[in-house]
Amino acid sequence: MRVHGYRVTTGDDRHHHTFGSDSWKTPICPNCGTNVHFIFNFELNDNKLSTLSNDQLDSIPMVSCLNCSSYWSTQVFKIEPRTREIIILKQNDKDNWLSDEEDRLPYPLPFTKVKLEELYETDTPTGEWDSDKAFEDFGSEYICRILGEPLFATEPIQKKCYSCNEDIEYIATICSEDFDSEGLVHEGFSFNFGESFLYFYFCKFCSLLQTEMQST
Ligand SMILES: [Zn+2]
Ligand SMILES: [Zn+2]
Repeated sequence: MRVHGYRVTTGDDRHHHTFGSDSWKTPICPNCGTNVHFIFNFELNDNKLSTLSNDQLDSIPMVSCLNCSSYWSTQVFKIEPRTREIIILKQNDKDNWLSDEEDRLPYPLPFTKVKLEELYETDTPTGEWDSDKAFEDFGSEYICRILGEPLFATEPIQKKCYSCNEDIEYIATICSEDFDSEGLVHEGFSFNFGESFLYFYFCKFCSLLQTEMQST
């Protein structure tokens, strides 16, 4: 069965999907010493996300520090629903790069309600289709896409769970806003962490979140 994919856009569709805030407790980034960003939270009572639901979680938080090189290589986070806490299981940052102070995103990110809108046909190029339009709209019309076919910047990502080695579910991808499209997630706010795509994966057996980065 083909899984539908969605653009994540601002607005309220009664499911309480959100961007920003600090409603999950995130760890301190080992590289830059500030809280890992809590980026999006998706409520699993939304039928559109039924493929991700397990018996442990009510919602899936998507987290990563966005101000340093910590997300350039694979990250693994454990989601602890009882304490609403995120724990770092793996992070191998060897670059130890920090973005310039004036470019850093704040913690917490500003709170915004978001909703899910079906991906457009052009968002999921297949076969011979040209992917230019998909990449053009991603970052100029929306900054997060959830489920559906991932839009890979380079080669497809094949992932197994860090803990149980089972296949792992693709959840979502985020990218920065284009400079002339600022305010897509929050009015007067610029969501920019550089020219990369950050892919989130989820093991529903272990409640682990894994991330991979690609850039064009
Ligand atoms: Zn960091
Ligand atoms: Zn697992």
